[in-house]
Amino acid sequence: MNERRFCYFDHNATTSVAPEVVDAMLPFFRKHWGNPSSAYAFGRDVARHLETARAQVAALIGAEPREILFTSCGTESNNTAWNSALMAQPDKRHVVTTAVEHSANLKFAEALRRRGFEVTTLPVDPNGQLDLYQLEQAIRPDTALVSVMWANNETGVLFPIAEVAAICRSKGVLCHTDAVQAAGKVPVNVQAAAVDFLSLSGHKLHAPKGVGGLYVRRRTRFVPYLVGGHQERGRRGGTENVPYIVGFGRAAELALAHFDEENRRVRALRDRLEARVLAAIPQSARNGAQEPRLPNTANLAFPAVEAEAMLMLLDQLGICAAGGSACTTGSLEPSHVLTAMGLSAAQARGSIRFSLGRVIREADVDYLLAKLPGVVAKLQAIAPDGPAQPPRAATADQAA
Ligand SMILES: *Cc1c(COP(=O)(O)O)cnc(C)c1O
Repeated sequence: MNERRFCYFDHNATTSVAPEVVDAMLPFFRKHWGNPSSAYAFGRDVARHLETARAQVAALIGAEPREILFTSCGTESNNTAWNSALMAQPDKRHVVTTAVEHSANLKFAEALRRRGFEVTTLPVDPNGQLDLYQLEQAIRPDTALVSVMWANNETGVLFPIAEVAAICRSKGVLCHTDAVQAAGKVPVNVQAAAVDFLSLSGHKLHAPKGVGGLYVRRRTRFVPYLVGGHQERGRRGGTENVPYIVGFGRAAELALAHFDEENRRVRALRDRLEARVLAAIPQSARNGAQEPRLPNTANLAFPAVEAEAMLMLLDQLGICAAGGSACTTGSLEPSHVLTAMGLSAAQARGSIRFSLGRVIREADVDYLLAKLPGVVAKLQAIAPDGPAQPPRAATADQAA
């Protein structure tokens, strides 16, 4: 295989807008551009389509349409939930969250600490899993919110949200989950997992970037984050992004309609990719538990390799993937998720996330499998320490 393909192994970063979603959106740019808050039919008709989208997004998570409010992104949904929980309970100044949350929550937590709030950050074990006993012990009488993500964006590891929600309910504490990576990839249901708030983002499930959703359980006290007009039944000011919301609704509908077949297909491809890579590349290892995990994500550590260099070589081959580090102000910060799991900075910097999805075909996996061992060998050959160092102590279910 010498041809250069375009292989997109970064579905956890963003996804393509589905053609059906584009088709659903276009009339709302070209024809139905009225303001849904207007009194005349040209606006009111648009409002009906907003409500259709609300029902479609609600159906994806087993909610009632009135429990969904539309936002501009997953980040806004997370910030809104945290803000509401604290503003609605001014006497409570403590939040419990985890060390592996998305930066939307971790940065919010930092800002809260600077303002005198207390935040308990729960650790994870080497498999990336949470200790529920520790979580229960962390809840105090002044805890306003427990926020635990459903699926980790870097490793795909799933947290037991139904159990987390049950603990919160028994203690009378509000519970939020960032389900941005989980929705559409694993069953997400707010009846089975009785959270009070749940965040969604359109662009992780084939809607455009710049639209999100927040589930707020009925009768949960809610304080808006964006104040202004009466949109979203007074819960979020600002004229609704109608075309994107309509697209988000259609994407949610598609995710539900193709859920079983697509996730079976993706899981089989991911499992083959992971098994072949671990077998072909000495001392490579999976980061995070094998199960429970998203069906599309493989986070793999390679010894004596810099992920940044690897991503550059992969890019030259037309392969898009993500590294175990984020470039912050010019320096390579190792991933907070991988370091929380006990990986050293070097191990985290040698880790790559492959996230599969709708545009990945078997031929893409074959192409990656054909190219990857050569890329790793090339970089190990020029590494100062050579390939001798083992990546990490293998955990129980990672026995090579
Ligand atoms: C992408 C992502 C977000 C942020 O969503 P945006 O719509 O990009 O703001 C939040 N949480 C998780 C887990 C994510 O993967």
